[in-house]
Amino acid sequence: MSGDYDYDLFTIGAGSGGVRASRVAAAHGARVAVAEEYRVGGTCVIRGCVPKKMLVYGAHFAEDLVDAQHFGWTIGEKRFDWAALRDHVQRDISRLEGLYGDTLSNHDVTVFPERATITGDHEVTLASGMVVSAKYILIATGARPHVPDFPGSEHVITSNEAFHLEQLPRRILIAGGGYIANEFAGIFNEFGCKVTLANRSDTILRSYDAALRDRLLQISMAKGIEFCLNAEFERIEKQDDGTLMVKLTGHDEREFDTVMVATGRVPNIEGLGLEAVGVERGKRGEIVVDAFSKTSVDHIYAVGDVTDRVQLTPVAIREGQAFADSLFGPGEPYAVDHSCVPSAVFSHPPIAAVGMTESEARNQLGSIRVYQADFRPMKNVVAGRNERSLYKMVVDAANDRIVGIHMIGPEAPEIMQAAAVAVKAGLTKADFDATIAIHPTMAEELVLFK
Ligand code: FAD
Repeated sequence: MSGDYDYDLFTIGAGSGGVRASRVAAAHGARVAVAEEYRVGGTCVIRGCVPKKMLVYGAHFAEDLVDAQHFGWTIGEKRFDWAALRDHVQRDISRLEGLYGDTLSNHDVTVFPERATITGDHEVTLASGMVVSAKYILIATGARPHVPDFPGSEHVITSNEAFHLEQLPRRILIAGGGYIANEFAGIFNEFGCKVTLANRSDTILRSYDAALRDRLLQISMAKGIEFCLNAEFERIEKQDDGTLMVKLTGHDEREFDTVMVATGRVPNIEGLGLEAVGVERGKRGEIVVDAFSKTSVDHIYAVGDVTDRVQLTPVAIREGQAFADSLFGPGEPYAVDHSCVPSAVFSHPPIAAVGMTESEARNQLGSIRVYQADFRPMKNVVAGRNERSLYKMVVDAANDRIVGIHMIGPEAPEIMQAAAVAVKAGLTKADFDATIAIHPTMAEELVLFK
């Protein structure tokens, strides 16, 4: 690589996309540095997927301990200690942060633990004032929670703070209808908080199949979560005792102990110096890139949430890998295929989906067949838990190809990861029918659809 620059690659942001891109570029022989202003690992590891999933596991014990009695177990007095779980989770996050740092240093990637700004062509300035040059710059700065502007919005928390709460709130209002809002609603509800979920539209999880959304809504309400739909913030007033008086449109004023906002995430572009170097941005502030993650400036690339293609960790990782292989590897450049990305909502119970919803398929394909299994998992039957799972398969009637699978029920994300391979590979309903079931499982419903 050119010796005219301090580095071949300078990555801004050591999250999912930035770490993968940096380490792979270095493995291909590039001289790489990365700047991270907070903690190595980024959102997913430090305050996203990983600690969230640990809380989901912790929350599920609330039901498991009750159900255990139906399986013959006598359980003594059960009590939940939030501080113990919170601290265990944070300890493990620090361990993972260390491992991510080790991965970078083992690949001879220089890590600057500070903020970086692009200050010129091929030039980055660090918070300490140090100026470095690089042949290529990769922006992998992720996204951050968006907090709407209304009187009293300074009193809310976001998912960032939810992991560090001093104590559990007795009453929590969660605003938002997306996966983060629904996941935290489930978590806090299982921990015994009184949860109210407010959303400005009349639907939750709007990108998911309507039948699954309805099922989650019913089950969540049965578990005690309250929903205020078509409700937006008018104001929040903090009272002398620290509680929050909240006024939502169409609702009477109500008191909560904590208000958490999960109303979307916006690309992290502030103060990056993009205007000065002419990097084009889209309507939501996202960095516009081509199929190879190149921005409007030839030597500047961007991957992950900051590009707002699909805001998920495995997608950011794929984009980082493809970028590094394409620019520094021995093979031909290649682009990431963003179609048919499976996803999950770790609600109680979880949802998982891949491909088109029924209504998307109807609109796009016209003639479709839909198969559905609506059943009570065996474990729930023994536990006396009246909670039904729903699996749905959407098939293109023209060629029998499966174009979507949608599931709500225990372990749905685990099952979906395997099923998604089949959908991505373009398998048909006949291929599923030809596969013998594993009995007794929940997943067998996928090959038994009639
Ligand atoms: P990030 O991981 O956000 O990394 C960006 C990094 O850049 C950050 O560490 C930031 O500090 C740093 N940075 C920003 N600006 C600068 C600067 N100027 N200088 C230096 N450093 C800078 N995805 C899933 O796939 N599954 C899930 O279950 C899931 N759950 C989630 C739960 C929550 C609560 C949240 C918030 C997100 C969740 N996500 C999940 C999304 C996932 O975390 C993101 O899609 C992923 O982290 C994006 O990776 P990234 O590399 O683009 O950015």
